[in-house]
Amino acid sequence: MTARKIAFIGLGNMGGGMAANQAGAGHVVSAFDLSQAALDRARAAGCSPVASVAEAVKDVDVVITMLPAGPHVHQVYSEQIIGAAPSSALLLDCSTIDVETARKVAGLAKAAGYAFADAPVSGGTMAADAGTLAFMVGCDEADFARIETALEPMSRATFRAGDHGAGQAAKICNNMILGITMLGTCEAIALAEKLGLDPVKFFDIASKSSGQSWSVTTYYPWPGPVPTAPSNRNYDGGFATAMMLKDLKLAQDAAARAGAATPLGAQSEALFQLFDRLGYGGRDFSGILQMLRGRLDDLPKT
Ligand code: NAD
Repeated sequence: MTARKIAFIGLGNMGGGMAANQAGAGHVVSAFDLSQAALDRARAAGCSPVASVAEAVKDVDVVITMLPAGPHVHQVYSEQIIGAAPSSALLLDCSTIDVETARKVAGLAKAAGYAFADAPVSGGTMAADAGTLAFMVGCDEADFARIETALEPMSRATFRAGDHGAGQAAKICNNMILGITMLGTCEAIALAEKLGLDPVKFFDIASKSSGQSWSVTTYYPWPGPVPTAPSNRNYDGGFATAMMLKDLKLAQDAAARAGAATPLGAQSEALFQLFDRLGYGGRDFSGILQMLRGRLDDLPKT
């Protein structure tokens, strides 16, 4: 393996582990974040913290960003990366952002001679730490092999979804399915309970019947049947409701712009918004079961 010079911008819950995996694979990682605590963690993980984006991207082969949302990505690329990184550098944005901003940034990058990809991820912080994320990539076809190689230390699977913006489209469509199936699963469990059917027995049946989905088999929101699911730890950790809400909002914004009918996505956004407003934005999204059961008194707010 040839050691690459990598700039990693955004070392938060996800980026911290991802940068550590690049360093662990033997690459030279210049790391930048606005937070000193994040920079300290990056140093402990074998990265070299630097004082600015400009310093991080100087002379690198690859730039990876993992930032909160579209405005951060647009600002960092348009003001700090494009023009400062060598034009031979591969630019990879792994943040989850709106399709429009992803396409806009790709246009700016391409006009300046860079290869760029939107490459959002599926998998939470545990997958980021373990280097087992799934990447959904929007890029020029000719760039994909190089992109896949650069992502390899952080990934278990990398898909080219299509041209620029397609990675973000895949991400928000996938998470819209997740939000909808989780709500369907929770409603069914709440109904099963009212009808006197044991929710654990219902798991045995639904997980082998046509009600089966990832929300049932891998993330069952009732404790017991899936020991690794957040339902077994009072919905601590996992995939925060606020994050799910962010992705559902992105899906609704995209649907409004594209003129797509997404009525169940809209309902999901409204219900997760309510759960968030009730004080549960930091709890795992499958905790919405307790709202549907009318049992929020038993669930501590975050
Ligand atoms: P986070 O808030 O923990 O990390 C973001 C980091 O970016 C912070 O450390 C912040 O200081 C830094 N930052 C903000 N503006 C900056 C700037 N101008 N320059 C340098 N650093 C800057 O968020 P996260 O959980 O790591 O999520 C990052 C992205 O990944 C988001 O788009 C999120 O939607 C997506 N995502 C998160 C998860 C998850 O489970 N946490 C899963 C999949 C995708």
